[in-house]
Amino acid sequence: MALKASDIQKKLPEGGKKNCKECGFPTCFAFAMKLASGAVSVQKCTYLPDEIKAELEEALAPPIRLVTIGKGANSFSTGEEEVIYRHEKTFYRPTGVAILISEKESEESIAAKINKLKTMQFDRVGQKLQANLYALKYDGNGETYLNLVKRVAGEGYPMILICEDLDTLFKARDLVADQNPLLYPITKDNLEAALPKIKVKPTPIGIRANGIEEIIPITKRLKEEGIQDVVLDPSPKSLKEMVRDYTLIRRAALKKTFRPLGYPILSLPCSLADNKMEEALFASAGVIKYAGIVVLSDFEKETLYPLLVLRQNIFTDPRVPLAVEQKIYEIGAVTPDSPVLLTTNFALTYFAVASEIENSKVPSYLCVKDTEGLCVLAAWSTGKFSGDTAGPFLKKIGIADKVKNKRVIIPGFAARIKGELEEELQDWEVIVGPREASDLPAYLPQMIEKWKSQNK
Ligand code: SF4
Repeated sequence: MALKASDIQKKLPEGGKKNCKECGFPTCFAFAMKLASGAVSVQKCTYLPDEIKAELEEALAPPIRLVTIGKGANSFSTGEEEVIYRHEKTFYRPTGVAILISEKESEESIAAKINKLKTMQFDRVGQKLQANLYALKYDGNGETYLNLVKRVAGEGYPMILICEDLDTLFKARDLVADQNPLLYPITKDNLEAALPKIKVKPTPIGIRANGIEEIIPITKRLKEEGIQDVVLDPSPKSLKEMVRDYTLIRRAALKKTFRPLGYPILSLPCSLADNKMEEALFASAGVIKYAGIVVLSDFEKETLYPLLVLRQNIFTDPRVPLAVEQKIYEIGAVTPDSPVLLTTNFALTYFAVASEIENSKVPSYLCVKDTEGLCVLAAWSTGKFSGDTAGPFLKKIGIADKVKNKRVIIPGFAARIKGELEEELQDWEVIVGPREASDLPAYLPQMIEKWKSQNK
């Protein structure tokens, strides 16, 4: 945050000593502290002159502006990042991935690309991975382009309108202005002609400039006109330039609070790369190095999936372990005779165990206990996976109502909770399973055979 509470207090009425409480806070300083943390609006103090309010709002605004494209449930937001390096805190807004469609493409190709954004979804560690936007590129045929824009608008996803011809760009914008599309490119050459048209129906815009220095007067001019929903494309010519420029923009925005560069970055690997693999490489660099949106010429599973996994890894909070929901997971076609296994909710533990149960071909109930995302050994050693917490958990989730035989298999690494768990679950048999999930495919069929022979 650019201002400290003590700096803000000095700007409040009577040097921050009025303390009238009308803002809902007991003192001006308490109000200043809330302002500094972004938890309250400056408008709450009705005694502040407008110019001081504007000054404080400017100083307290996030160093990288939040820009939203689209409307409603499928809208996409980028910006408001706070750190250069993920390990300093976290990155908040995953890079948007867009698919480029030109009106020049065949009907078959357009239909396939429209479909790819909707259907190319992947599940990984309990999260759905999917791309985000359509980027519609004008290639010279105005009527066909406008028809494409209308058609894609019906899909309900956010859109980037890429059009060098200003008349066609704003005709397209008028067709879908209610869907808040991003308009690109606004350049130093078309800026003045575009400004009045942008202001008629303001939507986000993308600046294209020949390098960072050319961006600065454009964003300043736009700000004078009250236009701030902006993304930046410094048009790098190589991977090296791309990483350099994006890093400079991020550093200027965060370290220097340099407002003219305090906007998200639009990256177009589709126009920078010579081939598909290079494009995937550039897009990956963009995800890592600060691009708010990357536009790809097409989606192929073999490049889109790794890119989305990379994005998922970069944009998870390093302070919070990946965790899955605490509940009973039914793996395979379970019956009342299926075995019951118990584990923790660390996402990688869950997915390792669940996939090895699948490999065993023994349909099973997997009871996943919330251990704040810790793996079995860490959860046991910190007391989050003990018999006297696991027992009540198993009772509470009602696994006993689903099975005939009350047997629960616990992880080998948590063998020491067996005694406690037996005390908690007096009518259950507690069995210590293998330490490694990879042993389950051999272990589970053996247990099934053993139980069958015991029942004969
Ligand atoms: S309303 Fe303004 S002057 Fe009154 S206590 Fe709050 S910040 Fe201070």
